[in-house]
Amino acid sequence: VRTYDAATIRNDFPILQEKVHGKRLIWLDNGATTQKPQAVIDRLAAFYAHENSNVHRGAHTLAARATDAYEAARDKLRRFVNASSTKEIVFVRGTTEGINLVAQSYGRRNVKAGDEIVVTWLEHHANIVPWQQLCLETGARLRVAPVDDNGDILLDEYEKLLGPKTRIVGLTMVSNALGTVTPAREMIAAAHRHGAVVVVDGAQSVAHRRTDVQALDADFFVLSGHKMFAPTGVGALYGKQAILETMPPWQGGGNMIADVTFERTVYQGSPERFEAGTGNIADAVGLGAAIDYLDGIGMESIGAHEHALIERTVAGLPAIPGVRLVGSPRERAGVVSFVVDGCRTEDVGKALDREGIAVRAGHHCAQPILRRFGLESTVRPSFALYNTAEDVEALLAAVRRIALRAQGGSR
Ligand code: PMP
Repeated sequence: VRTYDAATIRNDFPILQEKVHGKRLIWLDNGATTQKPQAVIDRLAAFYAHENSNVHRGAHTLAARATDAYEAARDKLRRFVNASSTKEIVFVRGTTEGINLVAQSYGRRNVKAGDEIVVTWLEHHANIVPWQQLCLETGARLRVAPVDDNGDILLDEYEKLLGPKTRIVGLTMVSNALGTVTPAREMIAAAHRHGAVVVVDGAQSVAHRRTDVQALDADFFVLSGHKMFAPTGVGALYGKQAILETMPPWQGGGNMIADVTFERTVYQGSPERFEAGTGNIADAVGLGAAIDYLDGIGMESIGAHEHALIERTVAGLPAIPGVRLVGSPRERAGVVSFVVDGCRTEDVGKALDREGIAVRAGHHCAQPILRRFGLESTVRPSFALYNTAEDVEALLAAVRRIALRAQGGSR
């Protein structure tokens, strides 16, 4: 067993060698996007240097190379999420597009006036707005499962919302604002008892924890490549094959048809039916390389390493006078949210940036859950496999200085 060496892993990422304001860059904005290892950057360059072509259509050597690389990436994703078939893996732009695809294709066909869609209070706007739009179009009603003061979902209240009218449940694996790991498996089983399908937002879990869509029994699972060390602009929608086969296409065009006349079009099966037009081929191949990179380290090792960093952060921040954690969920992954008394979150973010520390300060596209805690904004350090104990100590020391200044200033 290889011991986990975050400092060596950090060296795989060229951007982490950058200096910011003359300081060593400490990237703690992984919840927004992750940095890319050299292996992914090299894979993109190699694709464009040796394999670039459109896929499926051309009957020539480069078309075959590009198609092989694209389909190999799909198979890597299949393994990564533990789907049973590549027919269940649809390339999309990211989590947002994946959820919209389900809302517009599955949702429009299966949701009617009087039906209900259930989401949780923890959701990112990407898992709220598409359902609201669907409700407006269909006359369905959006219902929201509440959380307790720790930021954990109240399971009894969630179960009370489920009933014969529930068609769809939208549920995040991990809250991007509080770091709550949701009891997704239990919640999915409960939804299934009422005949609802569940769309799982994996955006904040895939870089931190092993994904197993079959163990979860998720009907749909969406992820963004850029949050797991792959390029922007590519992600995946997993859907159970039996469900995908019943769904109408979302967009029409080339690459997704079996036959077209002016009278009618016959569509291909999944995944082609959902991938109209030329896809983001090179970046999908880059996503495959990111999965290879993660496999080389191992999700269990990554999770254990990050857990230790998060524990230290969660213990260290509230020990600083004037610093308050927002949310203390039973199980946490990826992110920690906090506020500093007497200091605007934007100012904390700017002060940290001057020390070379990148965090997000804002509403994190999750306004309802922050408002649940009476806030419009928090400071959010978020972790990844290349963060080190040194990064955490630097963060704590910088926040200590900022909090001290804020308290001095307010007196
Ligand atoms: N869901 C969650 C939980 C997220 O954190 C994010 C990104 N912040 C999204 C969805 C949206 O992902 P993307 O912008 O890559 O589509």
